[in-house]
Amino acid sequence: MPRMPKPDDIDPDCKFEPGTMVPVIDPMRCEAKGPCVPICPYDVLALRVVPRHEKAALPLIGRFKLFVHGGKQAFAIDPDACRGCGLCVQACPERAIKLRKR
Ligand code: SF4
Ligand code: SF4
Repeated sequence: MPRMPKPDDIDPDCKFEPGTMVPVIDPMRCEAKGPCVPICPYDVLALRVVPRHEKAALPLIGRFKLFVHGGKQAFAIDPDACRGCGLCVQACPERAIKLRKR
């Protein structure tokens, strides 16, 4: 289990300017338990109901997992605000989040 970050881990002088990095969530791993959401200091992430067309694009096992998790997954609602601090990556017990350069 990854170490749970603490608020003191937040570096106010993040390495990246907003919009340089973006969190990418693996829909086959996300279990919608959400520790990534409150840990983000910039409110980038939220849990949302996966729209029908995205659900249809998943393989059968992915659709089943989504059903088990109430049809929800984490989503980057404000990707432009991401500062690449990595707290969400550390907080995710499923290793579902990767940071990608835009
Ligand atoms: S912490 Fe990971 S598994 Fe949990 S909601 Fe966030 S991305 Fe999904
Ligand atoms: S890397 Fe930091 S700023 Fe970006 S989504 Fe994750 S917690 Fe938020």
